[in-house]
Amino acid sequence: MSQAKLYDVCIVGSGAGGGMAAHALTQAGADVILLEAGGPWDNAKDSAMLTWPYESPRRGKSTKARPFGEFDACIGGWELDGEPYTRAPGTEFRWWRARMVGGRTNHWGRISLRFGPYDFKRESRDGLGDDWPIGYGDVAPYYDQVDRLIGVFGSTEHLPNEPDGVFLPPPKPRCHELLVKQAADRLHITCIPSRLSILTRPLNGRAACHYCGQCNRGCRVNANFTSTNVLIAPALASGKLTLVTNAMAREVTVDRAGHASGVTYVDKTTGADRHVRAKVVALGASAFESARLLLNSRSSLFPNGLANASGTVGRYITDTTGTDVAGFIPKLVDHVPHNHDGVGGMHLYMPWWLDNAKLDFPRGYHIEIWGGPHVPAYGALGGIQHYPGGGGYGRQLKQDYRRYYGSTIGFSGRGEMIPNDDTYCETDPQVVDRWGIPVLRFHWKWSDHEYKQVKHMQETFRALIAEMGGEAFWPMPTAEQGYGIAAGGVIIHELGGTRMGDDPKTSVVNRWCQAHECKNLFVVDGGPFVSQADKNPTWTILALSLRTAAYITDQMKQGALG
Ligand SMILES: Cc1cc2nc3c(=O)[nH]c(=O)nc-3n(C[C@H](O)[C@H](O)[C@H](O)COP(=O)(O)OP(=O)(O)OC[C@H]3O[C@@H](n4cnc5c(N)ncnc54)[C@H](O)[C@@H]3O)c2cc1C
Ligand code: SF4
Repeated sequence: MSQAKLYDVCIVGSGAGGGMAAHALTQAGADVILLEAGGPWDNAKDSAMLTWPYESPRRGKSTKARPFGEFDACIGGWELDGEPYTRAPGTEFRWWRARMVGGRTNHWGRISLRFGPYDFKRESRDGLGDDWPIGYGDVAPYYDQVDRLIGVFGSTEHLPNEPDGVFLPPPKPRCHELLVKQAADRLHITCIPSRLSILTRPLNGRAACHYCGQCNRGCRVNANFTSTNVLIAPALASGKLTLVTNAMAREVTVDRAGHASGVTYVDKTTGADRHVRAKVVALGASAFESARLLLNSRSSLFPNGLANASGTVGRYITDTTGTDVAGFIPKLVDHVPHNHDGVGGMHLYMPWWLDNAKLDFPRGYHIEIWGGPHVPAYGALGGIQHYPGGGGYGRQLKQDYRRYYGSTIGFSGRGEMIPNDDTYCETDPQVVDRWGIPVLRFHWKWSDHEYKQVKHMQETFRALIAEMGGEAFWPMPTAEQGYGIAAGGVIIHELGGTRMGDDPKTSVVNRWCQAHECKNLFVVDGGPFVSQADKNPTWTILALSLRTAAYITDQMKQGALG
């Protein structure tokens, strides 16, 4: 059933990309409809912040819809009932999908890094992959706007490829982080305050963080960033946004001239098919899901899927490389009880610090730090038998828990994968979801570049643990074990599939994230990324979405979008 009303813009997906577009377009006065496959959520009411594990019979243990724990704010998971995806033989890949208003921003780590000037021009620097058609200078003003609107803490460092932002003051390092900092200094590894979108000062009517450390549960006072409460809520308050939840977009429709005319979606509450009409369509369903929507938008004018004349929809997809090492640090045993309060994430991190010309792999990684005496969650200190003399029964076991609590420090590497021809997604000709929509089939291959980079991560983390006088909990993984590289998709930095470029033969969208072959169709999630960078991607998704929204506003004013 098609709705009579013609909206200015129909956005699909309410996560980082879709939420930012909805906020910016409604602020500019556009009449916007937002289709979201999941249900509603409000951090102020629905968050499990400050719930004790003993208040639940599950004690916080994960559920299928909340793989990161019962109290986690994000509903979704690695497997969704009725919404499968498939893998080509030999492919190891996992796809994490949110299904709720705000998408994955409800529980993301809030590590909010800008891409640097080198990140947009990697091919020019090392001959691998491709350059973006835009540079850091094109995105910088939008990063600044995102910083001012949402808030991010950090420190001014003047590093060449880690641009500083409009920062709120960072929180002080905690005891275990000071230990890491001392070891990093001795090993000449750059270690600086982290950059997280958590308010250390009140901003734009939102309260400052009170350091309960439970960001992944959703913040009841909205001191951290979610699309849900920081972007969608004010967009709704403007009266210009119509939010339709439980609306699973099926395809983008086109008129006889090949312009986008709207979106068909399944009303998940009734199973009925509906159609919404709009002058402009913006896809923010997450990078791979937006590629899926385009591949499924076939018509006589676009037999290979919409915006896919180049055949590159679903290509050049990437995830971050990742591996972890944790160790037991004797210096932290039997320590004096001290204040470990802080934000729900690390207070320090290590940006990429080396010169690839002196290494056997291209591109870098950053290091995330974890550990210390957090409020124990379900499964805390599981594996106590791995600590010296740890384990046993009764009083002895209780004493060991007290002694060893907080004496673990861990490191996670997050590095840059280079897109390759063997890594892509396509629609599976055999499999459909519960609504009959063809699903994605993934092909994934790491190259030697990534394996060598991850080997270097493992060696560095072990050196850091040794430098602190500690011992890693598990041995160095072998080459046969891929040096412990996480499977594709597991780091949940899904990018590419509708990459941007100036040449319509090799890219899906132009430098404004506008489809080359359909001028009123845009992609506002991580799909248009040309490369990963060694940064977490969301701050760049937000900045690009804001930039695209400004372009849509300008083009609509000029009557250039039909
Ligand atoms: C545990 C975790 C930690 C993370 N930590 C960080 C971090 O510290 N820093 C960082 O930069 N990134 C982090 N990320 C990644 C970050 O969450 C994503 O990069 C970001 O949310 C992507 O935004 P998006 O708008 O593309 O997708 P999403 O936020 O996933 O939003 C997509 C939305 O579209 C909806 N949707 C999907 N398909 C359809 C459809 N067909 N019709 C209608 N709606 C649809 C979904 O329900 C969802 O709400 C983390 C992710 C996870 C899971
Ligand atoms: S640590 Fe701060 S931002 Fe995170 S949930 Fe607690 S109060 Fe909110």
